Amino acid sequence: MTREYLKKATLTSKSDASDTKKIVRGILDEIEAGGDEAALAYAKKFDKYEGEIILSPEAIAAAAAQVPDKLKRDIEFSHANVKRFAEAQLGTVRDFEVEVVPGFVAGQKAIPVNAAGCYVPGGRYSHIASAIMTVTTAKVAGCKNIVACSPPRPEIGIAPAIIYAAHVCGADKILAMGGVQGVAAMTYGLFDLPKANILVGPGNQFVAEAKRMLFGRVGIDMIAGPTDSLVLADETADPMVVAADLVGQAEHGYNSPVWLVTDNRALAEEVMRLVPLLIDDLPEVNRDNATAAWRDYAEVIVCADREEMAATSDDYAPEHLTVQAADLDWWLERLSCYGSLFLGEETTVAFGDKASGTNHVLPTSGAASYTGGLSVHKYMKIVTWQRATKEGARPVAEATARIARLEGMEGHARTADIRLKKYFPDETFD
Ligand code: NAD
Repeated sequence: MTREYLKKATLTSKSDASDTKKIVRGILDEIEAGGDEAALAYAKKFDKYEGEIILSPEAIAAAAAQVPDKLKRDIEFSHANVKRFAEAQLGTVRDFEVEVVPGFVAGQKAIPVNAAGCYVPGGRYSHIASAIMTVTTAKVAGCKNIVACSPPRPEIGIAPAIIYAAHVCGADKILAMGGVQGVAAMTYGLFDLPKANILVGPGNQFVAEAKRMLFGRVGIDMIAGPTDSLVLADETADPMVVAADLVGQAEHGYNSPVWLVTDNRALAEEVMRLVPLLIDDLPEVNRDNATAAWRDYAEVIVCADREEMAATSDDYAPEHLTVQAADLDWWLERLSCYGSLFLGEETTVAFGDKASGTNHVLPTSGAASYTGGLSVHKYMKIVTWQRATKEGARPVAEATARIARLEGMEGHARTADIRLKKYFPDETFD
């Protein structure tokens, strides 16, 4: 490898896990013991909110009335695309049965979980799109009870556009509660909610830690860390577009890494010149996030050729991966570790984040080396079944008895023996 770092990160995206763990453990324990009242106390403490917790139909209608028509159409456009994509995914989940030996049939069935808890972050930005991504996909998967949960703003409550999106996409209940208390309410079934079987959706370190601690008792989609993005660019890339894409992702948070990997030093240097200019031009909050992310977490790497670029990218296993380079088919074939891939300048991460149909709840912090993002599959249990004729059961019972005895599991072996004796009384088996 001849990778040369023109810019190296000085920090990595590991939060102060020990502090976060202690805080989250305490809140979860208190809410489990204290129920609704304890959750309400935390809503008051962290979000300064004392309004309606489970939104009434009137509150949902009032929120919808506040959303401008054009934004409603945009939400509906995004919902339609996410739904279309999720429906196509559902088509790839196949129930089947196979005759493993004559007379013995085994099968697979995909069953949606009963209750999904969809966390829609709302502290820093109003993540309208997260409501669309999580709720729509749960609905297409066939979940019967979908709760959308989002932090309320002090006195005002959840942003009206999030309420509208959650409702349009099929949420059965909308819970105005954020952070650990929101996650706990869905898991423990507070406020008469159905107990969630799975918790999905992104969130800050408190939300992520709560999901991690509750995993086992409840399913989760993944542990979401700070969002990260990598751009692969060769000499054909437009440095201004590359720089804009890096800045666009750096605004997520002060610790959101962005990486540029290229085989063209001149392009790398021009992008490094442009990025600070584009950051300076952002509104204040976005500028602060992007400045810190670029300063502390960003990396710019020059490689010898496209093969080394691809290998470097696979090592990072980014959440979002953009290719602005020639021969897009080669990259699609070659790259193997990413949450979502954006091929060519004509698409970009923000399209997938907001409206193009692919899901934006994606693996971060290198988790793309072992998993993909949110899909209908995460809301489904792939279970198996079997049935047999007496003749079909015979060879399976014989093998089972012998294997079980070798393992020392006599009780298991006798469940096979009893059947062999009953079905074939005139024969002896060893
Ligand atoms: P959030 O909704 O995740 O968190 C807000 C909640 O945090 C509040 O309701 C409060 O209860 C809790 N909280 C705040 N300070 C606390 C403290 N000191 N102790 C205990 N609880 C506390 O909203 P956010 O903070 O804006 O974070 C959103 C996150 O979601 C970001 O990290 C963003 O990058 C991420 N995100 C990721 C994706 C993705 O697909 N990967 C998409 C959208 C957002």
